[in-house]
Amino acid sequence: DTLVNQIAAGEVIERPASVVKELVENALDAGARRVDIDLEEGGVRLVRVRDDGLGIPPDELPLAVSRHATSKIASLDDLEVVATLGFRGEALPSIASVSRFVLSSRRVGAEHGASLQVDGGRVGQVAPRAHPQGTTVEVRDLFYNVPARRKFLRAERTELGHIEEWLRSLALARPEVELRVSHNGKPSRRYRGGGEERLDFDDGAARLVETLGEAFAQAALRVEHATSPRPAEDGREAAPALRLHGWIAQPTYSRASADQQYLYVNGRAVRDRSVAHAVKQAYADVLFHGRQPAYVLFLELDPARVDVNVHPAKHEVRFRDARMVHDFVYRALHDALSATRA
Ligand code: ADP
Ligand code: MG
Repeated sequence: DTLVNQIAAGEVIERPASVVKELVENALDAGARRVDIDLEEGGVRLVRVRDDGLGIPPDELPLAVSRHATSKIASLDDLEVVATLGFRGEALPSIASVSRFVLSSRRVGAEHGASLQVDGGRVGQVAPRAHPQGTTVEVRDLFYNVPARRKFLRAERTELGHIEEWLRSLALARPEVELRVSHNGKPSRRYRGGGEERLDFDDGAARLVETLGEAFAQAALRVEHATSPRPAEDGREAAPALRLHGWIAQPTYSRASADQQYLYVNGRAVRDRSVAHAVKQAYADVLFHGRQPAYVLFLELDPARVDVNVHPAKHEVRFRDARMVHDFVYRALHDALSATRA
């Protein structure tokens, strides 16, 4: 079973940033309003994620770190088989199979907390442990038992950079959640949540300053564009309801590289060449500008019309109406940018 978990880990747990991603997404799934992320040595030595979510009852801790074993896989030669399986319910067991892992939690309303240790896939016993409401997952010495993978890890700065970039992308999508990061014992990032003390908290605009900075926010142009669904008629295809909202920076803040292009589809950060092309094309057509636009854009559409499971870790999507989505995004940006030239 440890072998199966290690193979699964090989598919999706590439580096400390993948661990952070899986753990923070679990925290958000549990309704956390605040997530603390403590890192050491770029996350290689330690990733610890603590949340104030619902928590896990003691008797469910073993469940959280176990998966359905498949008898089809006996050795690493069967890797191709694994590649086709999903990753649902596999993150914790996978991570725990390639690290020194501790899961601690106290369920909302429960009097006592508990924890469970897993060492390179060897699951220990549930033990009582004091813990505030919520969950802490501690992942030490990633890949300590898989030297072949450990040697692919990069310098501390590089691994930290991957983590910070992913957190920035998440922070943009979830402005209501407070995220606090420390590295080697020092506070390194803080994204404030939407508490009462932030009366100015305007639909993510404050988070925009925190994530991409004052200069981006100053140059940012609001995008808000929607279409109604249209049934098929007169030989024309049916069109889904689409909404695009967010910000694009004006050319005063254009970039030489595509490093600040954040696209979310139904709240998930994704990469999509066709949508990126549509934005760039509108930018170039309206503003006659050859540089890279910086943007944060949220596309929303019927989940049935987009496939997000193309690859579990790579954030690619497939649109049922790819051409329509491209043209819609082009039109949305074209309108928003044209308004500034009037
Ligand atoms: P998945 O998220 O796909 O269900 P995971 O392996 O990431 O699989 O997590 C397994 C399970 O452990 C979750 O379904 C959830 O029940 C529980 N869990 C993990 N992390 C947390 C957390 N931070 N708070 C509450 N429950 C959690
Ligand atoms: Mg998960």
